[in-house]
Amino acid sequence: MSRRASDYDESDVRIRPSRRGSRPRSKDRPAHEDALPGFVTAVDRGRYTVLVGRGVGGKRMPERVVTAMKARELGRKGIVVGDNVDLVGETGGGRDALARIVRVTPRESVLRRTADDTDPFERVIVANADQLVIVSALANPEPRPRLIDRCLVAAYDAHLDPLLVLTKADLADPADFLQHYAPLDVEHVVTSTGESGFDGLEALHERLSGRVSVLVGHSGVGKSTIVNALVPDARRATGVVNDVTGRGRHTSTSAVALRLPGEDGWVIDTPGIRSFGLAHVDLGRIIENFPDLEPGTAGCPRGCTHDEEECALDEWVASGQAGPAGAARLDSLRRLLRARSGEAD
Ligand code: GDP
Ligand code: ZN
Repeated sequence: MSRRASDYDESDVRIRPSRRGSRPRSKDRPAHEDALPGFVTAVDRGRYTVLVGRGVGGKRMPERVVTAMKARELGRKGIVVGDNVDLVGETGGGRDALARIVRVTPRESVLRRTADDTDPFERVIVANADQLVIVSALANPEPRPRLIDRCLVAAYDAHLDPLLVLTKADLADPADFLQHYAPLDVEHVVTSTGESGFDGLEALHERLSGRVSVLVGHSGVGKSTIVNALVPDARRATGVVNDVTGRGRHTSTSAVALRLPGEDGWVIDTPGIRSFGLAHVDLGRIIENFPDLEPGTAGCPRGCTHDEEECALDEWVASGQAGPAGAARLDSLRRLLRARSGEAD
């Protein structure tokens, strides 16, 4: 099919580096040739906030925020923050304008979570991210290693690079914690707020630059404080940690994508989490997400569940080869295996 130059409109300009090859134009789906590509930054009760004209490289086009709904032809197909979509209808933006999402580009990654470990209903939290930033306070609230371990499993399972951000270093020395996690070889950044400014922010910014990063963490850990510092106009409400319970209040209800100012990087903020259900992770493969323990399974009997007497992991941990956190990590693994197979945690 040959087209004259004058037939091209802005939807033909490839503005997303992730879109490989040409747009699908099959006989079955000839419609919406003039659809406009966009990036979903927020979802709220069936309304999608979509950024269009996101310029990359030489061809920058004016950007605008468009509110859209899902076209009926998409049926039950879910659309989440981070999705690249095609829009038709009122794509000019502005108050009251409502566009329609007619296509969702195949996802490069999918971060999933379930309500608990046996819940068959999995929820896609974010699409197309490449980094999972696990935010944990060093104190107030205390770090929750088992939650961190779960987030690591989720990251490995979704093929996202994990990054640990340890906040409130002004309240507790990170050395102990880091020593525990050292054998895991997970990248980390330590931050603290105080009179001298926001320590660690620059280092964190470097890690986020040019990437699509999802931030997760228990509420009260200082995630909003970080997001506000990274994206000053995000105007995220900063909660106040309840002095009695040490728990922060929830400050938002769903994920939202925010662009790092002046850069090609995105941070996707998610509501504070209490747990991270992993029902979608294949039981037999959970061990693969514990790279510090997996080599120790060489001595296991065939078909070992790693939660039985003959399991070689106890010896592996006792020998010190899994590092100083070996016992805690093995405990984490076994709790996860039990929770996943429906036994109590
Ligand atoms: P979120 O629930 O994870 O979004 O946490 P917030 O960003 O709302 O922070 C919770 C509380 O921790 C607030 O009172 C913040 O001022 C405080 N906070 C955040 N970062 C730090 C830090 O580095 N040091 C100290 N001491 N407090 C912090
Ligand atoms: Zn075993």
